[in-house]
Amino acid sequence: MDVDDEASRILREVFGYPQFRGEQRQIISHLIAGGDALVLMPTGGGKSLCYQIPALARAGMGVVVSPLIALMQDQVAALQEAGVRAAALNSAMSWPEVLETERQARAGELELLYVAPERLLTERCLSLLDRCALALFAIDEAHCVSQWGHDFRPEYLQLAVLAQRYGGVPRVALTATADIATRREMIERLRLRDPRVFIASFDRPNIRYRIAEKDNPRRQLLRFIREEHAGESGIVYCLARASVEDTADFLVRQGVDALPYHAGLDSGTREDNQRRFIRDDGIVMVATIAFGMGIDKPDVRFVAHLDLPKSIEGYYQETGRAGRDGLPADAWMVYGLQDVVQQRRMIEQSEASADYKRVAGAKLDALLGLCETAQCRRVRLLDYFGEAATPCGNCDNCLDRPEEWDGTVAAQKLLSCIARCESATGFGFGAQHIIDILRGNRTAKVEQFRHEGLSTFGIGADLEVAQWRAVLRQLVMLRLVEVDTERYSVLRLTAACREVLRGQRTIRLRRAIDRGATRPAGRGAIDRTRVTGVQVARVLSAGSAPLDDDDTHLPLFQALRAWRLQVAREHGVPAYTVFHDSTLEEIARRRPGSTEELRTVSGVGAVKLERYGSAVLDVVQAAQH
Ligand code: ADP
Ligand code: ZN
Repeated sequence: MDVDDEASRILREVFGYPQFRGEQRQIISHLIAGGDALVLMPTGGGKSLCYQIPALARAGMGVVVSPLIALMQDQVAALQEAGVRAAALNSAMSWPEVLETERQARAGELELLYVAPERLLTERCLSLLDRCALALFAIDEAHCVSQWGHDFRPEYLQLAVLAQRYGGVPRVALTATADIATRREMIERLRLRDPRVFIASFDRPNIRYRIAEKDNPRRQLLRFIREEHAGESGIVYCLARASVEDTADFLVRQGVDALPYHAGLDSGTREDNQRRFIRDDGIVMVATIAFGMGIDKPDVRFVAHLDLPKSIEGYYQETGRAGRDGLPADAWMVYGLQDVVQQRRMIEQSEASADYKRVAGAKLDALLGLCETAQCRRVRLLDYFGEAATPCGNCDNCLDRPEEWDGTVAAQKLLSCIARCESATGFGFGAQHIIDILRGNRTAKVEQFRHEGLSTFGIGADLEVAQWRAVLRQLVMLRLVEVDTERYSVLRLTAACREVLRGQRTIRLRRAIDRGATRPAGRGAIDRTRVTGVQVARVLSAGSAPLDDDDTHLPLFQALRAWRLQVAREHGVPAYTVFHDSTLEEIARRRPGSTEELRTVSGVGAVKLERYGSAVLDVVQAAQH
């Protein structure tokens, strides 16, 4: 049978999808034909099908190497829901379960086997595989081979053994990490044979990027959640364990269904919280970056950062966890001067080599550039990954263009105020005091040091405190000013500021706009509180007319969700493995009256049709009356 036909048939019948996305078809054909491949696709791009379909199409069992056990179990559950014979081998299983899975593998009863790398590398597991017919190896999260990355896992280096031991079996490495150095490392370290490299666009058009100045971060966050994502799933990232705990407590007190997750919690609590986040609808997980890799929950509606990530790679990976289902989602971040200072200090004080510090510093600067830019965030992000783009219309800067202004004079005032203060007194001062002098405030401290006599006293009364803070933050970001965290956060000038003081360099600044938690209201803004996801998705993709049928499908959609939750509870699986939100929304919109019609809904495969078809039609029927 024609390879492409077979792949399309599996896509339709098993997974219920009408067509391939992006390069899925080419990747799948290449693997079915026995070639090795490296697949780079953003989170939510659809990597899983790239190896699941070849595993089903080729003779033998597909082996998927995946680093996270929780994820593995959900993927297996989702495949089983679709009628695929899939199983996992991992340390969370009981001995009899392990023996049974091994037996099934030997007997050729499995189509897909998920294994953690450390288990795969045991002699027991390798000799099991020796006795199985193998369709392919898929190495998920393949960037874990990179020693430079933050997800490095030493076992991944040993996966090269698969190249020798199973020479004839095709291997595919997959990742959502885009940078070029890591690309080369994956190919070399995993010993891929003459691999075809597939690089998808890293754009995630359904994610709306928003970055605002930190003011009262928890209040900003609460407002954002209440006004735009009430009752929806989301992730809030914080840097430190303590702020994870505090923020989660705060949200719970405010009536948000939030849970904490960080490495300091015992593993039982961590697993429970993770399970609840994945299985229930509408939980907000407050977490350190320890949380999230391999969370493939499709309906995370927002990712919020209360602290700066370390790099654009980190930011993109973390925000990428929002909106995998393709429906609108928000990537929301607030940041301030303290974040910049704190991150720089962490780099400075780390034990790492000078080389590493230089790279880390440059990566942080690239991220700060993204924060401060007045241009389209998406253009900036994609440019970082080597991809050209045009302004997107779906980020804060596109929707509500920030004003840029010539801040050269303001910068000169601030810089010289710092210099005058220090030379008059013999030591430096912090931001608050410098701004008081600029604005001409006769505080006790000003009088104590007689700073009202400085020539810079009162020369900056034209700007508000918040504006001066924004100027200062941008000067710190540009490395014109340093904040000495060892000494009371004293401000210091750097050598680079000489050019500015001499008027040889102009400074363009971004006007502070107070949009802490308010959604951008410009062109194309969509009030999502009244519109369901599929409708928004339709508008975003087609750019079509305003919506008139907002609420008519909502009761049926909710009835379907209630039905789904009950089924998921009975089967002990996450709700989304039964049907995705996007599938339920399409059903609510189209109201199929027969099995034949239901079959044409995206996400309804043959097994699910057989299992759930009549129940779903009943729910649709009941809603007609
Ligand atoms: P990744 O592993 O790349 O983050 P997944 O494989 O989890 O992404 O896919 C993301 C989502 O897209 C899943 O919900 C998946 O079912 C869906 N999906 C993947 N391919 C298709 C397709 N061809 N048509 C419709 N939905 C798809
Ligand atoms: Zn944009």
